[in-house]
Amino acid sequence: MSHKMHFHVLTLFPEMVAQGLSESILGRAAKKGCIELETVNIRDYTENKHRKVDDYPYGGGAGMLMQAQPVYDACMAVKERIAERRRGMREAAGTKEHAQPRPAAEGQDTFSAGNPVRVIYVTPQGEIFSQRMAQELAQEEDLIFLCGHYEGIDERVLEEIVTDHVSIGDYVLTGGELPAMVMIDAVSRMVPGVLKNEESAQTESFQDGLLEYPQYTRPEVWHGIPVPSVLLSGDHAKVEQWRLEQSRERTRTRRPGLYEAYSRKDRALGWLSKDRLSHMDMLEVIRRGQAEVIRAEESGVLLYDRPSGAWMISASDEDMGERLLSEIPREEKNLLFAVHQSFLRDSIARRFHRTLVNECFQAVYTRKLPPSCPDGFAVRPLTEGDADAVYAAYHAVHSREYVRERIAAGAMFGIDADGRLAAFAGMHDEGSMGMLEVLPDHRRKGMGETLEAWLIAWMLEKGWVPFCQIFDGNAPSLALQKKLGLKLASGKLYWIS
Ligand code: SAM
Repeated sequence: MSHKMHFHVLTLFPEMVAQGLSESILGRAAKKGCIELETVNIRDYTENKHRKVDDYPYGGGAGMLMQAQPVYDACMAVKERIAERRRGMREAAGTKEHAQPRPAAEGQDTFSAGNPVRVIYVTPQGEIFSQRMAQELAQEEDLIFLCGHYEGIDERVLEEIVTDHVSIGDYVLTGGELPAMVMIDAVSRMVPGVLKNEESAQTESFQDGLLEYPQYTRPEVWHGIPVPSVLLSGDHAKVEQWRLEQSRERTRTRRPGLYEAYSRKDRALGWLSKDRLSHMDMLEVIRRGQAEVIRAEESGVLLYDRPSGAWMISASDEDMGERLLSEIPREEKNLLFAVHQSFLRDSIARRFHRTLVNECFQAVYTRKLPPSCPDGFAVRPLTEGDADAVYAAYHAVHSREYVRERIAAGAMFGIDADGRLAAFAGMHDEGSMGMLEVLPDHRRKGMGETLEAWLIAWMLEKGWVPFCQIFDGNAPSLALQKKLGLKLASGKLYWIS
């Protein structure tokens, strides 16, 4: 087990949530220590002597509204407890710090120093919850759920504390407890160790964009209907094939929209897999569930990567390139492209008047185990306080806000020497390793190698394929990639902004 998930639920009905999540698989997962549930009664934080937490809405209208003060204080109390726990863990980890990249020890999250905690307000006015969102939320270490009741909550406190608005569907419930429980259930199933057979989360509906195939159990014949004979054949390959066909057919008839998205993704993977190393950036954003396949043909793919806002393109020829580019709205101001063929540079210059090009090589770490690296450097996650030092050393390409955002996302790591940050590296928002910098006094000691090896271990642990992009002409970086065992793609990559 690599990480424990802590759920905190702010509610007026803590027993309802605690009870509802105490049975069966989730109850067992909590006992095993894979997940932890803290229910917090918002009423315990009211300053009202009658323990009142609601009042009439200004401007009139039906119903009562939850007041800002108790919600705010309850949330701050939880955040303080989380900060304290993380400090304790960091201190405990600090005394045992070791430079060799390794998966986090049992029950201890090595990588999560400064991540700000997400506060999810469950509300019919939010983005609709999905399997993709469950997967994304499962990467967090703590999640705070805020459950509304009555007519909802005073807008001012929502504006101050909420990071995500999430709905479970287009209908209105009496309170946020059931939605919070629904989300906790779905997220928990993604946490390693919660399901007995890790596989079962992998084959289920939605996991690969398809609904699950039909399933049968004993007796072999029931009400005169036999189990499909292929399932009794013992031929594993045939069973898999049958199940895939059933999944496809079921999705096509029951959920046509879902099926269309699946086919696009399937076509995209077809083209991108023809040269996996060159396309690893695109393959990974699809696999990590962070990109939308906007258009996929047999010889060309257009993706939109949500975190970076980049349009990623690979096309067999100019014609195909033009067709893909025609899908991108011209009026957008901050257009960013990552393209795989040099002819796309001209097309983009003509169509969008973007000409600033960074030419890169792509390198991919294809092994399952992390590389070994020099001993003796302690790697730590960067925190907010490091932002200025990072930006001072590394501002050729990215803004100060970007550096801050990457640190806040828990995606940057560093090594100290003489009480100061001496080297750092991280993961870009689209998923490549980068921002590697060793300050001049500390070069040639192995810090860069240690940091990249650390990043590789960190990404492998998350189930990702580590890859990076090296500016044309950066010989030291190319040498480092070779030393760590990364494979260089044959095709180049062009970032155009
Ligand atoms: N007046 C609110 C509105 O129209 O947006 C609805 C309030 S609802 C009666 C009370 C609480 O239930 C909400 O504050 C929210 O926390 C929760 N809730 C209701 N429906 C929900 C849904 N579909 N998804 C998530 N939360 C929901």
